[in-house]
Amino acid sequence: MDKIQKTWAIIWPIVKSIFKLLGVWDRLEVLLIYTIIYILASVILKEVLPKKRRGEVFSEALHLFVDVFIIIIPFIGLYYWLKEKIPLVVQLGSYILSLTKVDELVATVLKVFLVCIIAFGIARWVITLCSLALQKFAIELPYVGDIAVPLIRVVESIFFVLTVLWLPFFGLSLYKQVDPYPVVIYDVIIRPPEANEQVWEYIEEGISNAQENGMDCNPYLLYSLKVYETGSTVCTPIWSLRPRPNECASYAGALGMWQFLPETFQRNADRYGVKGNLWKPAVAAEVACYFINDEVQISLSQTRESFINNFAYNGLIWNRDPDGAGVVYDRAKALRESALENYKSPELEPTEYIWPAPSNAFVWYQWGVDMWYGQTHNGIDIAIGGLPAFQVHALANGQARYWDGGSCNAGVITLRTSQGDEFHYVHMERNSSKIFIPTDGGWHNVTQGQALGFIHNGNTTCSVGSHLHLMFSDGSYISGEMFPKK
Ligand SMILES: [Zn+2]
Repeated sequence: MDKIQKTWAIIWPIVKSIFKLLGVWDRLEVLLIYTIIYILASVILKEVLPKKRRGEVFSEALHLFVDVFIIIIPFIGLYYWLKEKIPLVVQLGSYILSLTKVDELVATVLKVFLVCIIAFGIARWVITLCSLALQKFAIELPYVGDIAVPLIRVVESIFFVLTVLWLPFFGLSLYKQVDPYPVVIYDVIIRPPEANEQVWEYIEEGISNAQENGMDCNPYLLYSLKVYETGSTVCTPIWSLRPRPNECASYAGALGMWQFLPETFQRNADRYGVKGNLWKPAVAAEVACYFINDEVQISLSQTRESFINNFAYNGLIWNRDPDGAGVVYDRAKALRESALENYKSPELEPTEYIWPAPSNAFVWYQWGVDMWYGQTHNGIDIAIGGLPAFQVHALANGQARYWDGGSCNAGVITLRTSQGDEFHYVHMERNSSKIFIPTDGGWHNVTQGQALGFIHNGNTTCSVGSHLHLMFSDGSYISGEMFPKK
């Protein structure tokens, strides 16, 4: 599902800008072309197809397949018509093609689609068989036969409608099970203002150690769990020496900030080779990551219901506490929201920056959005409608250095401003003749507004469409408003 959403997040802005670029007459033409191809395709295909046989698996499935196909064909016709007019369409086409090549997504969707169609055929077949058998039986009955037969037909159509309604849900759940790329989203780690600074530092340390072991862990969930377990107490090693039970040691022997039973802690620590004991808050935080992901299997991307279910029935130390689980979930979500909110509206110091791109360029993807490749966006993407390559310039006085960022980033220009900020201009040309500062890798003085070079033209191995990815070198919050167009 994530993959579909992210793919959609890429396709939709392109479709939107294509539509924007079309004039009124063009739009009418689009409608006309679509309708004509649609009518032609359906007339021809329906003519060629054998007549639909009610209740026959193959016939029902074939007709459903063709119905969907008839909707898709006009889009292909439109593609060829629009290709000449708007080059952006080619981008869209090549992106969709690249999906079929490098990605099993399309193959998976097709498989799911086929299974759905077959399931539909079978369901219709069973319903019709049952209905016919019942009708045969009812017609023989004295007195009630005349009423029963139509009644059975009504029930049959109700079942038919239910089958149609159920199909998309069936398809989705099937897709979830065979999703070729479960996507891991790394959350942005920003301290919510209400979180205890010291605890937050332990959490950050624990999470970064867990990430080194390939485990992603949500800081807001971890913090929310901590509050659920031990309130506002910071369970440092001093607490291990105090008389028990206390705020950090329960009657049942659950210990430390996340109230681990020693054997639960040890089991999870051993699995990842973690040294250290559960009284060390950062160690406990790291092991809590393994525990909640591997054993309890809770995450904020779950629905509230499945979160509560997993929490209350997989959690060994958290006993059966659905109400508490709900509180943990809600609090974690609220913490995340408040962190982002607080971070996105800081009193920005008036900067001397200027817009680093042509004035008709706009911010395409904002900082902090979940990107289709499964990461949180750590910069802003600046593009021009139609996605051509363009020149960028220094957003402030300072020193700049060009380096090759590999096949994903393409060229990168790092700019240290005289105010002391460091930016990366990512997706620059790799061809040095299109870069206007020396490409020897050294630092060179630049003045604000000075042209730095062209951005990379087209896709890279990890980005779609020509655009500048502008970021602070540490990936911290950045917005288009910091760079007024002059
Ligand atoms: Zn970007």
